Amino acid sequence: MDLLEYQGKQLFAEYGIPVSPGHAVFTVQEAVEAADRIGYPVVVKAQVHVGGRGKAGGIQLASDADSVRTHALDILGMDIRGHVVATLWIERASDIAEEYYASFTLDRSAKLDLGLLSARGGVDIEQVAAEEPDAIARLHVDPVDGLSEAVAREWVGRANLNPAATDGTVDVLVKLYRAYVDGDADLVEINPLILTTDGRVHALDAKVTLDDNAAFRHEWSEYEATQERDEREEAAHAKGLQYVGLDGYVGIIANGAGLAMSTVDIVSQVGGEPANFLDIGGGANADVMANALEVINNDAEVKSIFINIFGGITKGEEVANGIVQALGRVEIRSPIVIRLDGTNADEGRAILAAHESDRLVSQPTMIDAARKAVAMAGAS
Ligand code: GDP
Ligand code: MN
Repeated sequence: MDLLEYQGKQLFAEYGIPVSPGHAVFTVQEAVEAADRIGYPVVVKAQVHVGGRGKAGGIQLASDADSVRTHALDILGMDIRGHVVATLWIERASDIAEEYYASFTLDRSAKLDLGLLSARGGVDIEQVAAEEPDAIARLHVDPVDGLSEAVAREWVGRANLNPAATDGTVDVLVKLYRAYVDGDADLVEINPLILTTDGRVHALDAKVTLDDNAAFRHEWSEYEATQERDEREEAAHAKGLQYVGLDGYVGIIANGAGLAMSTVDIVSQVGGEPANFLDIGGGANADVMANALEVINNDAEVKSIFINIFGGITKGEEVANGIVQALGRVEIRSPIVIRLDGTNADEGRAILAAHESDRLVSQPTMIDAARKAVAMAGAS
């Protein structure tokens, strides 16, 4: 679960990381009242679950009530990369001397936490990584050992920050790592971490992704309330399906999470764009298949459907019968391509053959089926 900036800053503040005082507001009037209370100048900041707000015009400095009003009016309702702004964060403006970057995330291949620290903050870290990889100081942290102040100090030394920022940055990094571990986050990122003109180190932005599997340990209902809902995901989860909405046009149904992920990959590989990830689980009976088809069918972006089933314990003929029965129950808008393999695949394909048409096609391999599904999406 991703937090909004102000929620991330509240979390940081709980761990003692310096952030600017501010208020979350929902109207122009509230924005002006908040700014009056904080004192000028302030920053008016769009709160959306996406970065790059500054470039999009969603971050504005304001030196008086009139300009807060103008900016709040402008930013509320603004569409930032598909996210409509409903909330503003008003905070006291900071005087920036330098902008740095700091983050912690999990490095799965190293089986360790990974910290990134750079003197080049305020810009996309991906851009820094591509153009000037040496400008990022990396640190692997063993979660059993934690991050000591001495190790943090050595790390900050490698990042070539302004010496005036050393003590403050060491302090922030130790606290940020604690917030990451104890807060059960998958990612904590401060970009920019600033050195102010009067020598303080301070988090000017906050990006936090929490690990949903740890929700039972925390009181996260306030964060959950501000999540943007994907209607397709809600409908699928209500039917007990493992579904993740994507932005493409090839609807995907597969059995097993691994196969579903491979199906998403292969559709992309042959030049298509998957509309979703959907794992119907081990079995593939008519009920489950009908539910899955219904969810995909309700996605207006879907132009073709790729059903990719590998029979294991479930036999090919049972899968084929399930698909045929499901198709009898749901009126499908899009052409369907089926790849059925595994146990008793021949028996299954024989059953499907009796129902094939120009709208229902069976293909023997995954790559052929993916190509066919993409081609049929273009034709429909
Ligand atoms: P993002 O664009 O979504 O990453 O939003 P940020 O919160 O990181 O803000 C983008 C940029 O706006 C920062 O890198 C700063 O340069 C600028 N900015 C944000 N807050 C302040 C502030 O209090 N004072 C000044 N002078 N600039 C700010
Ligand atoms: Mn930022």
